Amino acid sequence: MNIVLLGAPGAGKGTQAAKLVEEFNTPHISTGDMLRAAVAAGTELGLKAKSYMDAGDLVPDDVIIGLVTERLQEPDTANGFILDGFPRTSPQAVALDAELSKLGRPLDAALLIDVDPEVIVNRLTSRRMCRACGYIGTEADGPTCPKCGGEMYQRDDDNEATVRNRLDVYEKSTSPLIDYYRGCELLVTIDGDRDPNVVYADVKEALNL
Ligand SMILES: [Zn+2]
Repeated sequence: MNIVLLGAPGAGKGTQAAKLVEEFNTPHISTGDMLRAAVAAGTELGLKAKSYMDAGDLVPDDVIIGLVTERLQEPDTANGFILDGFPRTSPQAVALDAELSKLGRPLDAALLIDVDPEVIVNRLTSRRMCRACGYIGTEADGPTCPKCGGEMYQRDDDNEATVRNRLDVYEKSTSPLIDYYRGCELLVTIDGDRDPNVVYADVKEALNL
């Protein structure tokens, strides 16, 4: 399974990726994590990326594509990969396709975990976390953590204005990408507004797993 994972922040993308990793042992390749790892390991591309990051600039597409290509040469990706956080735009998707076809490992699907933005706003703004143990719950848990009795609080970026802004940014940058994958007949859309296990069953069915 060679897949790109798409979905708004709060759509449950991470949960679905974790389930795929657990069941199929497919590496979950998050470009954010990979950049940090390459920088820490001091690889040539890592050093290049670091020079942009240190200057406060975005790491250019060719550097990220280089990292992804490098990562895909590692043996653990032989049976597939789940790419998360890249591509973010359609030009990046085109570049990624070119690299993957050079490697002879084209994408099988772009999997979109689709959730109505209003549902996500509700999900995220009702999220509460425990200061003591990190438990993630909801408003319904009340002021104390059901696990450890610690204080429950709301993360700053889970307030409504911030959540709406994050969703707007996602929508603007990702809609052309979704159109691109639809055009390539690679887009698989799963209704993410259901129990995570039900969503997962659909994901597997859609990917013929
Ligand atoms: Zn707690």
